[in-house]
Amino acid sequence: MQNVIQLVVFDWAGTTVDHGCFAPVAAFMQSFKQHGVHVTSEEARVPMGLHKKDHIRTMLQMPGITARWKSQHGKDWTEADVQSIFEAFMPMQLEVLGQHSDLIPGLIETLAQLRSSNLKIAGTTGYFREAADSVAKAAAQQGYIPDINNCPEDVSAGRPAPWMIYRSMEKLGVYPPMNVIKVGDTIPDIEEGRNAGCWSVGVLRTSSEVGASLAEWEAMSPSLQDTKISRAKKVLTDAGAHFVIDSVNEVPKLITEINLRLSRGERP
Ligand SMILES: [Mg+2]
Repeated sequence: MQNVIQLVVFDWAGTTVDHGCFAPVAAFMQSFKQHGVHVTSEEARVPMGLHKKDHIRTMLQMPGITARWKSQHGKDWTEADVQSIFEAFMPMQLEVLGQHSDLIPGLIETLAQLRSSNLKIAGTTGYFREAADSVAKAAAQQGYIPDINNCPEDVSAGRPAPWMIYRSMEKLGVYPPMNVIKVGDTIPDIEEGRNAGCWSVGVLRTSSEVGASLAEWEAMSPSLQDTKISRAKKVLTDAGAHFVIDSVNEVPKLITEINLRLSRGERP
């Protein structure tokens, strides 16, 4: 097999659907509130990309939240609290998903370009099974159906472990990892791609790091847009992204560049 990109692994929220990655934020805030602790939307976004239960644990480990939990409950949080918040979180997450499942504008045309180059498409996510299925169903109704879609429950651990990518590669018969690109909007996405040994690519405008809906984005001044993009670019580049791009719609152009690099002997 010629040494070219054969598989694109896409994240879901903030990458292919849900511009700005909003669906999980309100559900995290509400499920913490139900446990007596206020968290801000900024705090709720910090661990974005991890499996949602790991996300809750990581939030509890953040010093400000650890302190507020202790002052509210009179003791430190425990693993039982992680489970309890996760159980409150799941139905809240499922309830709001329907409002945040619109495809990123241009995705369908981008996918058509990728398909015409015989590329395979996979999805990986931090969503638990029912949420992942719900998002995939809503995306399918809009015309986006990846060849395979894995969630953390399909493998032994979610991001930053590379297992969801490896499962996709195995099922689709694609190797080595340098012939795969992973595209996502958060630090755990970038780490997942790096840990898999593939090309790891960050999207900026639609990301949780920018955190703006399409309407909010369009209403922003160009200078505020620049500030937010620069910040997101730094975060994802510092996490190890090989490339950062405006949105998924730049993936076909990027693949041309990566194929050129591969032909010159460059490796991720
Ligand atoms: Mg995402």
